[in-house]
Amino acid sequence: MTSLEDLPLRPELRGRTPYGAPQLPARHRLNTNENPHPLPAELLADLGEALGRAALELNRYPDRDAVELRTDLAAYLTRSSGEEVRVAQVWAANGSNEVLQQILQAFGGAGRTALGFTPSYSMHPIISAGTGTAWVDGHRAADFTIDPSAAVAQVREVAPDVVFVTSPNNPTGTAVALDTIEQLYAATTGVLVVDEAYTEFARTGTRSALTLLPGRPRLIVSRTMSKAFGMAGLRLGYLAADAAVVDTLQLVRLPYHLSSLTQAAARTALAHTDALLATVDAVKAQRDRIVAALPAMRLTSVPSDANFVLFGHFADAPAAWQALLDRGVLVRDVGLPGWLRVTAGTEQETAAFLTALAAVVAEHG
Ligand code: PMP
Repeated sequence: MTSLEDLPLRPELRGRTPYGAPQLPARHRLNTNENPHPLPAELLADLGEALGRAALELNRYPDRDAVELRTDLAAYLTRSSGEEVRVAQVWAANGSNEVLQQILQAFGGAGRTALGFTPSYSMHPIISAGTGTAWVDGHRAADFTIDPSAAVAQVREVAPDVVFVTSPNNPTGTAVALDTIEQLYAATTGVLVVDEAYTEFARTGTRSALTLLPGRPRLIVSRTMSKAFGMAGLRLGYLAADAAVVDTLQLVRLPYHLSSLTQAAARTALAHTDALLATVDAVKAQRDRIVAALPAMRLTSVPSDANFVLFGHFADAPAAWQALLDRGVLVRDVGLPGWLRVTAGTEQETAAFLTALAAVVAEHG
């Protein structure tokens, strides 16, 4: 059998393993931060119709610039943030992972550097590697917050071409203050990408970096329909930035990257925004329930503005992960010693998780 070592692979990809949470069979899958609520019946009916209509034209290429979809996304961003976002400022792709890849293709690449504050979304360094962009780990404090002055000093010293800030952060749930984002923007000459995949779950009072866009042409805010909208299977991510950034991304995007089926489905979902986002409060309630239940088990958590909770400390987190799985609950071992991450699911899933966790703690201490 041919091994990867036999192939003329780029040296920086040798020895790497593909990214991905284990897709294991488990009764309660709480490991990939999906929204567990089923899609509303009216949306499913409309999707059937919209996809049927789009199918009639599948012999044609889709709208290469996805203008109608971007118009709908701009309207959603304007409505939810109170900041006017125009269609020319919005770009969409197959999941925010593809959005991030296009950003790195345009602003990173050979001889260039990206910096992100780890622990954070592990695809940031992986997409950097895939685009030949060097990666530098930025520092976080012990409580997983970003200390603005330390971060600014590090950004000044490294002078990265791309800076990532994930807010709320994955896997810790930590929101980053807008003031810190402003300071980081001022400290870098590169682009600053604020990855807001989980922003709809933020606790009240947390403002989106969208409000910082005016006058900041190197700021990019990345979003997704995979989390709060409950459409992870759709693969639809998007960004808002200065219109010039959107023009730049046209240089690297593949023509017709968003299929007409994807565009039709995403537009239909956006027409049901209120019904889809109606589940957000229920998810947040389960997140807060998990946080509140942990101290009685002598466990702790990191304050979370997302739809998941990083919890610990375990003497042996991988053993606790396995013990939970043995009880039918799949959580995520993100490789942080002592910690595990659980997605806030339905009320029943949370109950199953908390029951299993209590048993694991009783057994393993
Ligand atoms: N950013 C963050 C912080 C994420 O956690 C994820 C998904 N795990 C993504 C981006 C990518 O999401 P998608 O490609 O489904 O939009």
